[in-house]
Amino acid sequence: MQIRLNLEQKKYGYNVYINELERIEIKGKTAIVTNPKIAGLHLNTLLNSLKCDEYFIISVPDGEEYKNLATIELILEQLFTSKLDRSSTLIAFGGGVISDMTGFAASIYERGINFINIPTTLLAQVDASVGGKTGVNNKFGKNLIGSFYQPKAVYCESKFLRTLAFREFNAGLAEAVKMAVTFDKKMFEWLESATLDEEQNLAKLVERSVLIKTRVVEADEKERGLRALLNYGHTFAHVIENETGYKKYLHGEAVAIGMNMANSLSVKLGLMSQKDALKIKELLAKFSLPTHYALRDESAFYEAFMLDKKTQEGSVKFILSNGIGSAVMKNDIKRDDVIKILREFK
Ligand code: NAD
Repeated sequence: MQIRLNLEQKKYGYNVYINELERIEIKGKTAIVTNPKIAGLHLNTLLNSLKCDEYFIISVPDGEEYKNLATIELILEQLFTSKLDRSSTLIAFGGGVISDMTGFAASIYERGINFINIPTTLLAQVDASVGGKTGVNNKFGKNLIGSFYQPKAVYCESKFLRTLAFREFNAGLAEAVKMAVTFDKKMFEWLESATLDEEQNLAKLVERSVLIKTRVVEADEKERGLRALLNYGHTFAHVIENETGYKKYLHGEAVAIGMNMANSLSVKLGLMSQKDALKIKELLAKFSLPTHYALRDESAFYEAFMLDKKTQEGSVKFILSNGIGSAVMKNDIKRDDVIKILREFK
């Protein structure tokens, strides 16, 4: 199965291949960025499918805490040492952390080299690997340094997902729920009854999510409007992740809590019915995802929104769902209304 993503009025584009890894063929030098855990589990499978002239493995430490400029420097140094040039290719082989960092390194090495994404987590397959957002974190917050840099191709393989830890798998489902709530009511209803341990359902889940992501990115690559709706839950999630030092919650788990917080605000503003908010909470619970966060200080939490990339001239942009299958951006919500909702999470 292939899904085409077209950009700049079809002048440029790339394919997302689902369960078609055997088609991967690369000319020139290739560097595969991965980590020891993923390499141990799946590198042989990748190498068996990969046809290329010469390859190098770049192994980086595992974890969100290493998604920073120091690791980018480490990747770049190895690219220079192995003398990659502008015709070379960088492959991201891992989850969202690896794909965000590899894409960023590819975008700045010699002002940009080829980049291919082979996502190995559900979160990266349904979301992070498609659409060209790359970057790293710093002490001021998440993904604050980065670039828009599109891959040449993306290969999503269901077989890689079989070794994911239960929590990691469910964290990926949070981003799929996000796609359904913001853009696809039918997908939401399907998720309510689907059994995802069946391989064909898993492929369908990736396909539906990638379809939504590609259509959104085609319409708004640089996130000037529509694409921002995919940040539903994220404004809250980024603060939660930052407050908890990126350790307590997986990204998808923080997004699940963030979606629930956004829904409370949406219900308060009369945009979403209590019934829809409850349905979303129940779907998140079906996937063993958290929906509550014991917030310490609502004012500090609100102030942290100011560091979000979506905040402009002191006005916080909230992405809220106005009913399952639809979302809106709001930048005129009163601080007091938000603070009241945040208090409910204390
Ligand atoms: P991750 O990359 O840290 O991977 C999670 C864990 O699973 C890691 O320990 C990893 O080594 C392990 N792992 C990876 N593949 C595995 C496999 N097949 N079997 C067993 N273990 C495996 O986390 P993630 O959830 O994939 O990604 C989160 C990151 O993605 C965040 O940094 C977030 O900001 C980013 N993100 C980016 C975008 C985007 O559009 N660029 C979208 C959403 C999220």
